[in-house]
Amino acid sequence: MILIKYLYIGIDDTDSPDGMCTTYLASQIINKFKECGIDLVDFPRLIRLNPFARFKTRGNGGVSLKILNDSKADLAKKIVLDEVSKLSMFDCDNTNPGVIFYDGEITREMEDYAFRAIYEFITIEEAEEFGKSIGCEIHKFKKGRGIIGSIAAISLPLNDFTYELLTYRDPQNFGTERCIDYESVYEMDKKTFPDTFENIDYSEGYIAIEPKTPCPVLYGIRSNDVDSLKIAKNIVKVSEPIDDWCIFKTNQHTDMHIQKADKISSMKQFGCYCVCGQVKNKPIVIDGGHMFFYIQDGSGEIECAAYEPTKNFRKTVSYLRPGDIIRVYGGIGEQNTFNIEKFQVIELNDVEYKNPICECGKRMTSAGRNKGFKCKKCGNKIESNEKVPIKISRNLKNAQFYETPVSARRHLSKPICRMHFD
Ligand code: ATP
Repeated sequence: MILIKYLYIGIDDTDSPDGMCTTYLASQIINKFKECGIDLVDFPRLIRLNPFARFKTRGNGGVSLKILNDSKADLAKKIVLDEVSKLSMFDCDNTNPGVIFYDGEITREMEDYAFRAIYEFITIEEAEEFGKSIGCEIHKFKKGRGIIGSIAAISLPLNDFTYELLTYRDPQNFGTERCIDYESVYEMDKKTFPDTFENIDYSEGYIAIEPKTPCPVLYGIRSNDVDSLKIAKNIVKVSEPIDDWCIFKTNQHTDMHIQKADKISSMKQFGCYCVCGQVKNKPIVIDGGHMFFYIQDGSGEIECAAYEPTKNFRKTVSYLRPGDIIRVYGGIGEQNTFNIEKFQVIELNDVEYKNPICECGKRMTSAGRNKGFKCKKCGNKIESNEKVPIKISRNLKNAQFYETPVSARRHLSKPICRMHFD
């Protein structure tokens, strides 16, 4: 039996807010590979890591490639290192590229490391020590922080996954306004949703496939399958050249960052969770338009937030009332509040207690503390202090999910249209 050996390549931390994108660098590498007859095994992967990582440029993403570990492996390594040296944004203090080559099996401890890179913070030293312990070839540029994400990008198992098709601009156009025909994006969404998703934020009239940064990406379309991406690309019209395009397999929109918490007190700051709790108070809005309320369970309570950028989602949150049982999904951020990405209603509190109705049909008023109720119309009195339960209608539904708009959604957040994927 011939044992096929692979070379895994991880790349991270090559871009800056002023430009570049690690996926673009990867697509340039893939082009050079093609010229040299080096084929990828499977799609290139775009792996999103801890959304709270301190030095991320935008979405904390690393890239990994898999090729055969054959006579061309050394050439492939040279191409990767040359392209990273040539294209990385070295002038930016926070750009510290890291490249990893690994030619063994992906082990359980590597998978565990990758999940730690999504759930926790890892230092450069820890990553380097781990990389050496598993026999990685490590290349650090400047501080080499990118090795943290590079090792995770090659190691993460993808049970649930999505795809993203990225088109890239002619370098001459980098930094200029993008020329995308928005009407065609609406048409594409109409024809391919929900196989593609997150194309448009209808509530904000926002074209989500178009980046708002000066990076090389012209647009990115996210999907559950490759066929719908090809259909979508044929529908979207642009009036500038598409220099190149590439499809990545990714953990975006899988909720991989979410850990199940069985109680509120077990959650930690800078972790992302789903947790069940009872709404404690009516949501309130503070200056700046941020909305807050508490949920509680037997172990404790936590303040939940729907910040101003979540726009219309705050209206939905405002419908919550004390006593509702909900499952919230999100992360505990800087302010120690739980930033909600979505919630599911488990059980609505649709009962309100009111004063009884008098025989004459008028609602009674309190006759004083522990003195029962009296009717202001006919003077009737009753001794009982018990209010009566009344079923009220609600704007929310049991079992239903409610989510933040596309414009305020994290790369890793699973949209409702994907909730049936495990
Ligand atoms: P883009 O999405 O535009 O490619 P980015 O947001 O991915 O940019 P990077 O330039 O990749 O940002 O920087 C993120 C840095 O954080 C990388 O150096 C990466 O290795 C590091 N990193 C990733 N995960 C963790 C983690 N769990 N703990 C600490 N550092 C991390």
